[in-house]
Amino acid sequence: MQNISKIINGKQYAENLLKEIFPLSNHYSKKFLRNPCLAVLLVGEDPASKIYVKNKILTAEKNNITSVEIKLPIDTSEEHLLNEIYKLNKDTNVDGILVQLPLPLHISEKLIIQSINPSKDVDGFHPINFGKLLMGDPDFVPCTPLGCFYMLKKELNELDGKNVVIIGRSNIVGKPMASLLLSSNCTVTVTHSKTKNLKEHCSDADILISAIGKPEMIDDTYIKPNAIIIDVGINRLKLENAKTNEKKYKLVGDINFESVINVSQKITPVPGGVGPMTIACLMHNTVKAAFLNKNEKFVNII
Ligand code: NAD
Repeated sequence: MQNISKIINGKQYAENLLKEIFPLSNHYSKKFLRNPCLAVLLVGEDPASKIYVKNKILTAEKNNITSVEIKLPIDTSEEHLLNEIYKLNKDTNVDGILVQLPLPLHISEKLIIQSINPSKDVDGFHPINFGKLLMGDPDFVPCTPLGCFYMLKKELNELDGKNVVIIGRSNIVGKPMASLLLSSNCTVTVTHSKTKNLKEHCSDADILISAIGKPEMIDDTYIKPNAIIIDVGINRLKLENAKTNEKKYKLVGDINFESVINVSQKITPVPGGVGPMTIACLMHNTVKAAFLNKNEKFVNII
């Protein structure tokens, strides 16, 4: 039986964060006579991307944030996408710009990310925002690591001196996560596909954060007893009924939840862990961008 007290409820944390953001977006609307505004660009028809964009837009609408969705066909040229971004960069009624990744292969993600005005880069992927985060003075932190950080701060009173192991070194999760925790006085080890003795590293972690994309790869043999586990991975498993040929899909993380919950102190589930926090942090970053772009003071919530 699952021990509910061991579950880090990302859905609840996301609701709590949104409750803190709502009065800020309301205050902004009253003062500037328009809502904070997020523009989302989606190129192509990738089903997962469409769901992510839909959820972002629905959450924005519920939280007094105007959203502008720009849907472009899969054969959109790089030049056309750049022009759309330049228009949004100039538009004083747009506070945040998000380009849903991945992009089709003929478009350079690097070029597109660099074309977004850093003060509207609510995903925090622009090199200027990345550099500021690395220097310990961030404006916009990528939403997934920011969400993980928020939950860790709420779960643990003290992060100082904690041994953290991060599995995965992507620009979206692993690297910014490491920067955030290093700035919070953790001792951080970043591991990846070429790391030797991964298990040995992981079994030393007070906090283990997994962002690999390999279904249920991490079981209890990787875990230090009483560790806090953050599972960023989202993997779609196909389940096929041999008798009826009926196909179903199940979302799982990188962590083998049933095996790890017994040894860990606390763990985020998939779904209902990091995912909802990522969207809540996007709302946070959009409202923050709206305030900063009007030279209004924004007191950091996270
Ligand atoms: P990525 O493919 O860019 O990076 C994966 C990382 O895992 C790489 O650094 C690679 O070195 C490492 N890796 C791969 N195999 C490994 C192994 N056997 N041992 C150790 N390390 C290994 O992926 P990403 O964009 O960082 O995403 C990672 C996962 O997190 C995916 O499942 C993705 O869907 C999920 N994700 C979830 C959210 C969310 O909101 N919950 C947001 C972003 C990403």
